Order: sequence, then C-alpha cells, then structure tokens
Amino acid sequence: MAGTTAIKNGYIFDPLNEINGEIMDIFIRDGKIARELSAVELKNAKVIDASGMTVMPGGVDSHSHVAGAKVNAGRSMRPEDHYKANLQKTSLTHSGSGYTVPSVYKQGYDYSAMGYTTVFEAAVPPLEARHTHEEMRATPLLDMGGYLVLGNNFFLMRYFRDGDMEKAAAYVAWMMKTHKTYGIKCVNPAGVENWGWGKNITSLDEANIHFEITPREVIKGLAEINERLGMPMPIHLHANNLGHPGCYAITKDSLKIPDGVKTRQNMDVQWAETRMDPSRDCSVYLTHLMFNSFAGTTWGDCESGVKDITDYINNKDHVVIDSGCTPFGEATVMTGDGPAIHDLYTLTGNKWSNTDVEMECGSGILPFTYLKSNPVHSLQWAMGLECLLLINDPWKTIMTTDSPNGGPFTKYPEVMTWIMSEAFRKQTFSECHKWANDRSTLGGVNRELSLYDLAILTRANPAKTIGMAHRKGSLGVGADGDVTVYNINPQQLDANNYEALLRAFRKAEYTVKDGEIVAVKGEIVSLPEKRTYYSEVHVQDEREKEMLADVKEWFRYYTLGFANYPTPEKYLANPTPIQVNSER
Ligand SMILES: [Zn+2]
Repeated sequence: MAGTTAIKNGYIFDPLNEINGEIMDIFIRDGKIARELSAVELKNAKVIDASGMTVMPGGVDSHSHVAGAKVNAGRSMRPEDHYKANLQKTSLTHSGSGYTVPSVYKQGYDYSAMGYTTVFEAAVPPLEARHTHEEMRATPLLDMGGYLVLGNNFFLMRYFRDGDMEKAAAYVAWMMKTHKTYGIKCVNPAGVENWGWGKNITSLDEANIHFEITPREVIKGLAEINERLGMPMPIHLHANNLGHPGCYAITKDSLKIPDGVKTRQNMDVQWAETRMDPSRDCSVYLTHLMFNSFAGTTWGDCESGVKDITDYINNKDHVVIDSGCTPFGEATVMTGDGPAIHDLYTLTGNKWSNTDVEMECGSGILPFTYLKSNPVHSLQWAMGLECLLLINDPWKTIMTTDSPNGGPFTKYPEVMTWIMSEAFRKQTFSECHKWANDRSTLGGVNRELSLYDLAILTRANPAKTIGMAHRKGSLGVGADGDVTVYNINPQQLDANNYEALLRAFRKAEYTVKDGEIVAVKGEIVSLPEKRTYYSEVHVQDEREKEMLADVKEWFRYYTLGFANYPTPEKYLANPTPIQVNSER
C-alpha cells in the first residue's frame, strides 16, 4: 500500500462530500486519500487518466452471503453450479468455479472486477464463526466483516424472558469479541426456535415454544441493547413470515418497533473528512425488503405490498432498507430462516438442505431459478425495483440481490441499469409475465436514478448505515484509497442506451484498493493485503463475569468445550477491531 496514486480529470461522484460530477483529481498516499501530493510524489505516482470517465468510492456491499458453513454447503450441494462457470488460473490468480456460489477466490476477483472493495457477510452463526473467518481470510481483495446471528439465541431469549437486559447486553458484547464479528443480525426472531419443533411464527405477539418469547420482544430487546452498547450499525433485521403472501403487514409492524429507540453510535475511530455527517442515524436496517413485501392471501392472488411499506419509510427517519432484487436466472437461496426455505422446498421439490445450529440458530439452502415466464418471479423482479425507486430519499436505500438469494452479486450491473433506465425496465416488461406490470406499481414509475444516486445506493449509504463511513464509501481526506473508475461519460450519459451502461458496470475501467490498482477492465492485476473488521465492545468487567457464569454453566449442553468456542485472531486476515465503548 506504500506509494502514491493520482486519478486525474475524472467526473467525481462522492455523496458523503456532496460532490456531484465535478471534474477533480483524487490523490492517494500510503493507502489513504490525501489532499494533495508534492511535486516529487506526483512524479513517482501511479497515474490513472480518468478523463471523460465516472469516478466513485470503491463499492461497498453491506449484505451478501459469501463465507461460512451455509455458503460452503451451497457450494457442495450444487456441482452443476460449478461446472458451468469456471475461471482459469493466471500467473497471479487462482483458478475458481461457481456461478451463484463461487469459490472464495473467484468471488473476490468477481467483486473486484465490478469495482467493489468491501463486502460484509450477512449471517455468521456463532458456532460456525471460525469457518466463516477462514473463508473470509481466503477471499482475496475484499475488506470484510460479518454480522452475528442472534435472533433465536438461547441465552438471549432466557435473559429477555427474565427481563435481565444488563446480562443480555454483556452477552452480546462478549459474543462480538469472542467471534470477531461486527454487528447484530436478527433472522425470523423467535420463529427459527419454533422451527426446531417443525413450526414457525406468524405474528409479532405469538410466544414461541419453551422460551415463551415473542418476535416483538426479541426485536425490541436487540434494538435497545444495540444502542446501549453503542454499536457501529443498527440491528440488521430479517423480518418474520418471509416469502409468504400477506407478509408485508408484519414487516411494516416490525419496523414500528425500533421507532423511538434513540440511536447511539459510540466508536473510537479516526473519521475521514466529509461534508455530510457520516454517522448513522437509523435504529433498524431491514434486509431484503422485496422478500418481505408480498400482499394478498395466496400465490394465486398475491401482489406487491412494497408501496405500503415504502410510504411508511418515506414518512419516518429511523429505517434503512436493502432491496434484495431478483434479476431473473439462477440463484441459490440460503438463509438462517429454515422454515422459509422449507416452504420453498415444498413448492419446488428441489434438493434442499436444512441445519439446526445447536442452541443458536439454523439455516436452509435450496437451488432456485427465477423465470421471466413465471408470474410470481416476474412480480418479484418488479417488487425488488419498487423497493429502490419508491423510497424518495436515496439515503434510506441500499442496492442488493441478497446474493445469492435473489441472484448472484455478478448481476448487480443489471439492477444498477434497471434503476437508471426506464427504457431497460420497459424492455424487461415486454419479455416477462404480465403480473410484473399488473400487480405492482413499477410500470407507472418513470424515475431514473442519477450517477450520484447510484453512488449513494452502492457506496456512501451502505458504508454510512453500517458505521463504516469513517473510512469507506467516501473520497474525503483520510478515507481508504478505494476507488472505482467506470467508463461512463456523465456528459454523454443516455439512459436509453442501456447496453452501454451494462457494459460499463460489468467491468470497471479501474478498481483501486488502498491506492493499489487491483483490476483493469475486469482483469485482476495485483493482490494487495485485505482486512477483517470486528467490534470490540467494552462493558464493565463485573457484568461480564456474572454473565459468563451463566454461559459456562450452560455449556454442558454444547457439543464442544467452552475453551474451543472463541475464534482466535489468527483466523482473520489483518484483524482490525473497532473499539466500541458502551460505558462512555
Ligand atoms: Zn441475506
């Protein structure tokens, strides 16, 4: 990362610094954005001529499934996914294979080729944290971190039942340190526990088996603990009843629970210079809104319920969502929501995998193909784009496919182009089932997002929402030297020429990571070091001691010894803890 880099004469799109297409030079020294370079430094700098091109901060994916036991199970149960897509080794890079669930090397190269430099794994089961870190460590070129799955954890459900929020907070803090994870993930709160008994939960006030805890109590409890601890990101919620007709109602009601929970982000970090306040202001980050937005009562009468939820979000300031778009084609659905995947299995009869992670969580996996000829799949395509286009303020939205659930991340260029080009949407409407138009509002939407909006949805806002804007998603002085150059001339941008946009987004002209040029026109040209972020949360020693006595007592029910539970730092690539001080 040593040395200097200059990216000259590009059109800069840097929303955290309110720079909208100005022609500027970007300088990087020792891996960080610098105000200027000396004459000598400039003389020795690597220079990129970005004249006539679009320059943005490196892409940030705040929700993707890229590492761990579940992802790897997806790889092993799908040989057909691997012989269809493979990559030859070069003198620099490894070989790789896999389309929807690529091998770790291939996924690092593929993200980098598109201009992404930072990716967060959306679901780390505590017991599988070591495996998750091993795969993140082996994934080249990406700075990474993972969210710990806590919505059905035995310890937390017991503490919530007993009203012991002090110990619950101490437990979450200890779990983050122990497993080197970054934020709180909450999947089908209280419902996955019922799945252990072949059941699910369908309303927010239904108590689960044995623990007698409701989804409302879990969401409220985790949201309060999150802010009490001062976590970098809000709770990351995968709402109940996912993927069922009518589920939009419980999704909207779930979003109301953390309304009024006061946000408190309390991290000891060096903040890059930004013109906007880069700290987070939301108390809930809802994931894959599309999958949680079906209206209707059956698959026969289902329709989009997205507008009802986006109307709510447009009037509130405590919610950020990612979309979970479904860009047609092959996917592998994989989630900690076991019952949701079982229901898909009964619909499709595809091969299916299910896991119960002892006292912590569960998961399910199933291959899936989204077809343009299928009415529901076509509707889902439209709903995913509604999630991004019906929310007025782009700072409340993040673009994802919940990779590989809605489709692999390599389909991001399609999604980016659909939200920027009404002509491309019309083209797809003409090819897919009429439910896409008849049962959603998308056909009446003529909004086309700008390059500035796109930079918010794919860089600035994912970074801000998860508390990484102190160094990611920005080109301010002191930010990481992560930059994407797209071969798009904003002066000649024509949204009707969507083929040109697709081409430009598929292969970034340059991807720069920590000041190093890592990819040129999709070709990997260097492999600098990467890092793993996690939250080192500090609570009073006394609290931790009391809580640990409970944990050790219950460890006799675990299949491994207490001493083997933690993930040591050696499992991480360049471990980069973020100090979180709950007591201050
Ligand atoms: Zn997900």
